[in-house]
Amino acid sequence: MLEKLKDIVGAENVLTELEDIFPYSFDGAPAMWQMPKAVVFPQTTEQISKFLAYANEKRIPVVPRGNGSGLSGGSLPVPTGDGVVLCFSQMDRLLELDVQNLTVLVEPGMRTLQLCENVEKTGLFYPPDPGSMKISTIGGNIAENSGGLRGLKYGVTRNYVMGIEVVLASGKVIWLGNKCVKDVAGFSLKDLFIGSEGVLGVVTKALLRLVPAPESSKTMLAIFENMDDAAKTVSDIIASHIIPCTLEFLDKTTIECVENYAHIGLPLDCEAVLLMETDGSISQVEKEAEAMTAIARQNRCKDMRIAANKEESFKLAEARRVALSALAKVSPTTVLEDVTVPRSELVKMVRCVQNTAQQEGLKVGIFGHFGDGNLHPTFLVDEKNPEEMKRVESAFEKIFREAIDLGGSVTGEHGIGLAKKKILPEAVGENTIEIMRIVKKTLDPNCILNPGKVFDF
Ligand SMILES: Cc1cc2nc3c(=O)[nH]c(=O)nc-3n(C[C@H](O)[C@H](O)[C@H](O)COP(=O)(O)OP(=O)(O)OC[C@H]3O[C@@H](n4cnc5c(N)ncnc54)[C@H](O)[C@@H]3O)c2cc1C
Repeated sequence: MLEKLKDIVGAENVLTELEDIFPYSFDGAPAMWQMPKAVVFPQTTEQISKFLAYANEKRIPVVPRGNGSGLSGGSLPVPTGDGVVLCFSQMDRLLELDVQNLTVLVEPGMRTLQLCENVEKTGLFYPPDPGSMKISTIGGNIAENSGGLRGLKYGVTRNYVMGIEVVLASGKVIWLGNKCVKDVAGFSLKDLFIGSEGVLGVVTKALLRLVPAPESSKTMLAIFENMDDAAKTVSDIIASHIIPCTLEFLDKTTIECVENYAHIGLPLDCEAVLLMETDGSISQVEKEAEAMTAIARQNRCKDMRIAANKEESFKLAEARRVALSALAKVSPTTVLEDVTVPRSELVKMVRCVQNTAQQEGLKVGIFGHFGDGNLHPTFLVDEKNPEEMKRVESAFEKIFREAIDLGGSVTGEHGIGLAKKKILPEAVGENTIEIMRIVKKTLDPNCILNPGKVFDF
C-alpha cells in the first residue's frame, strides 16, 4: 500500500515514521488519540481520485483532515491502525477571485483567516469566522458547517458555499453548484455534503460567495451583575429589530480566567459579559450602537465599554476570542462542549449547566454565541483522573438531555464525530439515523471514508 501511495502522490508527500505521524494522531477533542498507518499530503484532485479508487478496491480506511482543530474527534485516525490520513494542508491555493460575480474559488486546505485576508484586499468580505479561523481550513469548515462570532447576522458556512468539487469513495469526481444566484436544477446535493464530516465524500475545491465589506463597525462590551439581565438584553435587542453581527457571552468563571490570562481590565464582581458588535453603513452603525447601549442600560448593565477605534475593538473582542485559551490555562484538560437551544431558553440552559457542574463536583466555564442560542460549557478537569472524567460524562449526558428537552440540539457547530455518536440517535431519532445510513451506503458502500464517525455503519 505504501509503495502505491508514494507512486500516486510522490514519496515526499507520504509520512510513515512514528515521530512524523504522531501529530496527526489527535485533533482538538480531549482525551482521544489513535495512530494512523500513514499521512498523505495530496497536491491535486487527480491524485485524490486515484488514491480513493485504490483505497476503495483494497478497503483501506481514509480519514480526511484539514488542520485538526475539530472538537469532536472527526479527523482522528481509525482505531484499527491501518488507516490513512488524507491531509489537505498543502492544497491551499486561491484559484480564482471573481469580483464581478462576488465569488472565490479555493482549495480545501486554505486557512479561513488566509481566505478572509485575501478577499479583504479587494473590499470584499467572507463573513464566517470560527474562533479557530487562524488555523481551521475551508475544507474543515465545510465538513463541519462551521459557525462563528458573526453567525447571528451573516449565517454559517453553508450560506456561503455556492459550489464544491467532491471526490467520492469510488474515486469519481463530481462538481455540485455554480456561480448562479438561483439554481434549482435537481436535488441540492451540495447541501448533503456540507456538514457531512468527511463521511460522504472529500471536498477538493470550494466556490464561495462573498459580500461587500461593511463600511463601518462598532464593538461594545456590556457588563452585568446578573445573568438574567444579560439574556434579557439579547432578547430585547432582537425584539427591537436589530440584528447585530456579534452577541457573545462570557460567564463569571470565564471572565475570571480571561482576566488572569489577558489582563483586559474586566471586573471580577460580575456574572456576565456581553460582547456586542454592529456593522453596516456609518449612520446605521451609530443608530444601532446607541439603541443597543440604551437597551443594555435599561437592563441594569453595570458598565458599558465602547471601542473608539479598530485597536480598541480588537482589544474588546479579544475577551471572547481568548476564552478557550484562558480556560485551558487553568487545568490540564478542558472538555469543551457545544449545545444549542432556542434563544428564549438560554437562561434555563445556563442554569442547568451550572447546577449540573455543582452536583457533579466539577468546575465549569460557560461562553458562547448567545445571539445564536449556542453555548460552550467547558469543564476544567484532568483526563488522567478517570473518576473525574466519568463525572464529566455524566454531566454531559444531563446537559444534552436538557438541551433536547428545551427543543435544542446536541451540537450547534462542532459536529458529532466520535465524541457525540452515543447521543445522536436520541437527538435526531432512529428513523433519521436509518436514512443517514442509506445515504452513506449509497455513496460509500465499502465504508472507507472516515469510518466510525457520526454513526456506526
Ligand atoms: C480554539 C477553537 C475555537 C473554535 N471555534 C469554533 C467556532 O467558533 N465555530 C465552529 O464552528 N467551530 C469552532 N471550532 C472547531 C473547529 O475549528 C472547526 O470545526 C473547523 O471547521 C475545523 O477545521 P479543520 O480544518 O481544523 O478540520 P479538521 O479538524 O481537520 O476536520 C474536521 C472534520 O472535517 C473533515 N474534513 C476536513 N477537511 C475535509 C475535506 N476537505 N473534505 C471532507 N472532509 C473534510 C474531517 O474528516 C473531520 O471530520 C473551534 C476549535 C478550536 C480549537
